[in-house]
Amino acid sequence: MRRERQGKGGLVWLLAIYALLLTAGLLSALDGRYVRFYMNGRTEMELPLGTRYVEPGCRAVSAGRVFGEGRRAIPVAVSGTVDADVPGDYVLSYEARRGAQRYHASRTVHVVDRTAPIIRLESREGYSLTWFDEYEEEGYSAWDELDGDLTAQVSRTVYDDRVTYKVADAAGNQCIVTRRLPFTLGRPTITLAGGEQTQYPRSLRYVDPGFTATDAQGNDLSAFVRVTGEVTPTVCGSYARVYTIENGRGDAVSVTRQIEVVPAALPEIAEPEEKTIYLTFDDGPGPYTGRLLDVLADCGVQASFFVTCNSPDDLDMVGRAAREGHTVCVHSASHDYGAIYASEEAFYRDFEACEDMILAQTGSYTRLFRFPGGSSNTVSRFNRGVMSRLAENMSAMGYRYFDWNVSSGDAGGTTTAEGVYQNIVSGCAGKQVCVVLQHDVKPYSVAAVRRVIDWGRENGYCFKALDLTSPPMQHPIAN
Ligand code: ZN
Repeated sequence: MRRERQGKGGLVWLLAIYALLLTAGLLSALDGRYVRFYMNGRTEMELPLGTRYVEPGCRAVSAGRVFGEGRRAIPVAVSGTVDADVPGDYVLSYEARRGAQRYHASRTVHVVDRTAPIIRLESREGYSLTWFDEYEEEGYSAWDELDGDLTAQVSRTVYDDRVTYKVADAAGNQCIVTRRLPFTLGRPTITLAGGEQTQYPRSLRYVDPGFTATDAQGNDLSAFVRVTGEVTPTVCGSYARVYTIENGRGDAVSVTRQIEVVPAALPEIAEPEEKTIYLTFDDGPGPYTGRLLDVLADCGVQASFFVTCNSPDDLDMVGRAAREGHTVCVHSASHDYGAIYASEEAFYRDFEACEDMILAQTGSYTRLFRFPGGSSNTVSRFNRGVMSRLAENMSAMGYRYFDWNVSSGDAGGTTTAEGVYQNIVSGCAGKQVCVVLQHDVKPYSVAAVRRVIDWGRENGYCFKALDLTSPPMQHPIAN
């Protein structure tokens, strides 16, 4: 009986143990334990060439779904090496054991060359050049820690005031070095007076507003500027002029000016409010012009001179007249009717020659002129209609021609100061505004001037020089 009870009790125990084992096995199977790695640092890392590799290490623990991570670290064996002096990819292997099972992790280390080569420039003592000269290389070398001497691989470009040297090592690391050229005359900068967009009133000629060329060192390089591009100032339209400085190396500095030739505008004519006499003297300067200027200065009167180039010795009187406040206007360079009225072109060329003389003497151009013979002349009839065409074209180009309403007769039958005086006085009498024609190449005409001024002042006239707003007293054109 006792034995039986004993036998029964053992069986229960056996069954219990069996059940326990079964449960433990089942749980263990559900847990699925393995080794988990915790890497210190990245699994994929970059190491600059030449830098010592320090293993960041790795921790391993057992882990499972049911019972979680174990507390104790499992030893990890690291295998593999990194040669920090040789670029490449190195794989490090980590191994941990759990029972008979081996577990692995890995890390890749990329040893890379990140060091650029170095370019060294040499300079020659005392060497200098201008922007116009070819640069003589002073010397350079290139060195890379890994690839060694790279001097032969250096590419070199000379541009303007600098040389650029460029080289790359096998890993693609680039070095760029710039040398400033030791210039005495540097790269020019061209500056256009009046700007790059200009409007120009239709004219007989184009007068460029000018330019300057300088370098950073402050040298004036204007003399090296070449100007190309034609402007036809007599024809409205768009034109371009290019201002260029080139050197022998094929570098060029250039600036373009856009010129719009637009219709010329003349100011409105303003009738003087007071009684006014405009004394005008044609065909000079001549031997008596200086005397005339003295009289005018003495009387404090300003007059107008329609000048020619026919007396080269007296041309300085043109400058004097301008300086003393008189108005200098174009008459003609040659005053040769047959030549100047032969064609419009001939007239323009003669006109320009006279303008040039005026510019040389006074420093500026004028837009006031008087046709030789006056606009009503008939001496030009050998060229039919030339006066009509010239009057129209010159006005369209912004020039205003002046005739007269009082003639002194000094170019005709009158040859005495008394006669000239009488003609002027009788011509002026009763007129509010007088434009008096005289010739300062006639001594008797010059001799009459002081009396004319006295008479004018006594009769309430003031004396003025012409300007573009003065009454032009234009005659009816007869050709
Ligand atoms: Zn004349």
